[in-house]
Amino acid sequence: RLPEPRAREARSRLIVLAGPTAVGKGTVAAHIKDHHPEILLSVSATTRPPRPGEVEGEHYFFVDDAEFDRLVADGELLEYATVHNAFRYGTPRRPIDAALAEGRTVLLEIDLQGARQVRAAAPDATLVFLLPPTWDELVNRLIGRGTEGEEERARRLKTARVELASQGEFDYRVVNDDVARAASEIARLAR
Ligand code: 5GP
Repeated sequence: RLPEPRAREARSRLIVLAGPTAVGKGTVAAHIKDHHPEILLSVSATTRPPRPGEVEGEHYFFVDDAEFDRLVADGELLEYATVHNAFRYGTPRRPIDAALAEGRTVLLEIDLQGARQVRAAAPDATLVFLLPPTWDELVNRLIGRGTEGEEERARRLKTARVELASQGEFDYRVVNDDVARAASEIARLAR
């Protein structure tokens, strides 16, 4: 049964940005952070080691497996998932609750599994799916960034196909053909 139109409109200030591998979620989220300081970009905890240039507490909270287990056990994560069969990522609950209580908009840049968990935990969250302009463009971006080998790329593209088929679960779809435009489209959802 479809939800009532009014219920669909009554979305909260919690915005979830998801989308397939290499679509540019991180770049769009960073653009929103730089141009819309009123919006809080949530900082996730992860068991992945930092990449060169990544700053603790800014890009991620880098934790070991034991600490991640503790965050889960203590209910400190709004959602969490193992991404690309490798490391665990989760959204700390407290900064989000505090910002929402102040009337701020909060943006989560997470994977599809996480987006589904947020939907279950906070049904009025605004779910945004970021799309590549074309499938070929997605393939080219993945190859172009050169961070994965052939086998891992093939695996991620297979996942991307499945994820693209789930875009109907989302409240909004935004095409990332231009980072600034996509970012302002998403920022506008913050009322
Ligand atoms: P990366 O390791 O490249 O920074 O991120 C890998 C993937 O993990 C991206 O798809 C990103 O959206 C996702 N991710 C980052 N933080 C979280 C989180 O807190 N929860 C979930 N479910 N996924 C996350």
